Amino acid sequence: MQKKDIKWSELGFSYIKTDKRYISYWKDGKWDDGQLVEDNKISISEGSTCLHYGQECFEGLKAYSTKDGGIQLFRPDENAKRMQNSCEKVMMPKVPVEKFIDACMQVVKANEAWVPPYGSGATFYLRPYVIGIGDNIGVKPAPEYIFGVFGMPVGPYFKGGMNPVNFVTTDEDRAAPHGTGKNKVGGNYAASLHSHHDAVARGFADCIYLDPATHSKIDEVGAANFFGITKDNKFITPHSTSILPSITRISLMQVAKDYLGMEAIEADVFIDEIDQFAEAGACGTAAVITPIGGIEHKGKMHVFHSETEVGPVTKKLYNTLYGIQMGDVEAPEGWIYKVQ
Ligand SMILES: *Cc1c(COP(=O)(O)O)cnc(C)c1O
Repeated sequence: MQKKDIKWSELGFSYIKTDKRYISYWKDGKWDDGQLVEDNKISISEGSTCLHYGQECFEGLKAYSTKDGGIQLFRPDENAKRMQNSCEKVMMPKVPVEKFIDACMQVVKANEAWVPPYGSGATFYLRPYVIGIGDNIGVKPAPEYIFGVFGMPVGPYFKGGMNPVNFVTTDEDRAAPHGTGKNKVGGNYAASLHSHHDAVARGFADCIYLDPATHSKIDEVGAANFFGITKDNKFITPHSTSILPSITRISLMQVAKDYLGMEAIEADVFIDEIDQFAEAGACGTAAVITPIGGIEHKGKMHVFHSETEVGPVTKKLYNTLYGIQMGDVEAPEGWIYKVQ
């Protein structure tokens, strides 16, 4: 198989139309078998609930080329289960876990020429989604649905090495205390665009959302989860009903425990107590870990390890998890799905 002639390491995170995508329709109470198609346009009713009422959800995961020439997915069953939770929250039919994983596999295989080679630093990003479609006007669940998966190569997140970046807290919320924050549904992201824009305009990488009920605890770092390494070497990540349960975060907790011998806990992270941390980071599929240099809160900048150097524990966590995803470090049982 001939790979596409692409400068893999120079790729960013931008849309690229690859050869094939998967699409399946839900009608009359059931999903059809789904198929691979070439067309990247979808024709839907102007009354589709996804357009007006945000009845939709999505996922994000990656396929990685390994040294032996294989391709693997990282914990796609977790993405599948999370998407089922999102579907349940916004009253959409669930996609069976096996159907989700099979669709991802089909898209990777059909676009193998677009999957970046091992060692390029680039990966193949998959975007599964479910949308409410069909003729409708009232606020109610849609009569029909689409489950789709498409994918594209994306570049290495850190070009020229991993560098810490700074964040600023915002007074705005992306989700309500017991609302949709824990689900990957569109409304949360529309609600985050304004605060993200503000933070970037002020020279920060993104904003930090505080818990929407009291604004006293760290909830999320833009569209990534927060973690801190305490001065006595514990991995702490916020406990909250309004953060998106990151698969990278649960994986890092297990890596911290089983590979680095640390204690890893979920707990409240009060913004006024962040000096307990020697290091801090944001985690998610896109970057694995984005080291946090400092956080500005109420006009005061708090620097963790350093604004220019990555802390030693952050580095170890990153190298271990990235190694597992790339197939260079032995994974815990059940984390790796080989694309056959
Ligand atoms: C997707 C997402 C994350 C990261 O989740 P991963 O499963 O680690 O990719 C974190 N926060 C938000 C708001 C997200 O949408």
